Amino acid sequence: MKCNICKNKSIKILNNFGSIPRSFDFNKTNIVKKYKFILGQCTECSVIQLKKTGNDKSFIPKLKWIKNNEPDEHLTELILYLEKKLNEKKKILLISNFDKKIYDLLKKKHVKNLKLLDSKKYLQIPKKNPNQFLIQKSILKKKYLKKMSNIGKFDIIVSCRVLEHTYDLNLFIKNLEFLLKPDGNFIFEIPDSFKSLSQGDVSMLWEEHPIYFTKKSFLRAFQILGYKVLSCKKYLYPQEDALVLRVKKYSKEKMIVNKIEKPDIKLGMLFVKKCLFKKKKLISFLKTQMNKNKKVAIFGAGHRSIVYFHANRLKSYINYIFDDHKNKKNLVFPGTKLKIKPSVDIMKNKVDICFLSLSVSKEKRVIDKLRKLDNKIKFYSISPDSKYAF
Ligand SMILES: [Zn+2]
Repeated sequence: MKCNICKNKSIKILNNFGSIPRSFDFNKTNIVKKYKFILGQCTECSVIQLKKTGNDKSFIPKLKWIKNNEPDEHLTELILYLEKKLNEKKKILLISNFDKKIYDLLKKKHVKNLKLLDSKKYLQIPKKNPNQFLIQKSILKKKYLKKMSNIGKFDIIVSCRVLEHTYDLNLFIKNLEFLLKPDGNFIFEIPDSFKSLSQGDVSMLWEEHPIYFTKKSFLRAFQILGYKVLSCKKYLYPQEDALVLRVKKYSKEKMIVNKIEKPDIKLGMLFVKKCLFKKKKLISFLKTQMNKNKKVAIFGAGHRSIVYFHANRLKSYINYIFDDHKNKKNLVFPGTKLKIKPSVDIMKNKVDICFLSLSVSKEKRVIDKLRKLDNKIKFYSISPDSKYAF
């Protein structure tokens, strides 16, 4: 295993979380391919990362309604900053549809200097809203570089929610450098994995995220890549915080003088230790419930619950999976024999315990609604940040 970022070969393997299906594999049958979840940490740049398993095709969902929703309420400050730069006549490039909110708010006044990289035209992706895997895959290809460089060079290149999806961050940055003016800045918006890693939240792992940056590991990794971090802003969210970082390439002389951030090498082991401890606690709880003949359900069929279910080996303990997404109804929860049911079925099914896998901010509303159907159900959340956390 080679480091995704600094290319160092000395990766410390933290844990094999077992075989887990792709989180978009909602089918009518229970036959889906599973992939090994092997987590490692680079001893050089300290970035925690998942090993790539499976071919490229297996990263592209076949179902049309699968969409990666990313939080964007915190982008206001970045938008104000970019507007200021556009007023100073700086040229700005946004690289994907995940920057669309920024583009829509700024395009009217700044048609000339603001550009959104057209994924169909420059990256040869025919799909309308391609996922991050497809975007990064095209940016990594040499053959599209020439096409891309036709659009000129920019003072600022912005990318929201793509960096953590790339399978070769080193090359990804190098290829984007062709579009950046020598003194230009990159601005990356990424999830901050620090909180979930320190909480031992196994459901934070996702096959679409090969990279799990913290502020510290980002600083170290980018310094090793020859970049100076000019600013780093953190935005707090329930469960997963967001980071916005602005970086600039070092001139060679300065690089030697500058001290590189110390690595945080313990975080990876701490994460695994906590995950294993929580798994033990969960299984022992579920065994007791099973002996009492209690019925256990999970509400929310998404990438978080799929990883939670399989990494914790919950097959023998979960009786029902509920989700109110209209397209998921009656499809099989990936890698199991359980059919996804709408939540009104909770009444009929007499559930005693329900684990929630939802965004923390929606939990109370869902609990209130479900309690109207059955007020004896006990609720637990799989998110450590929730007040209902298991
Ligand atoms: Zn590395």
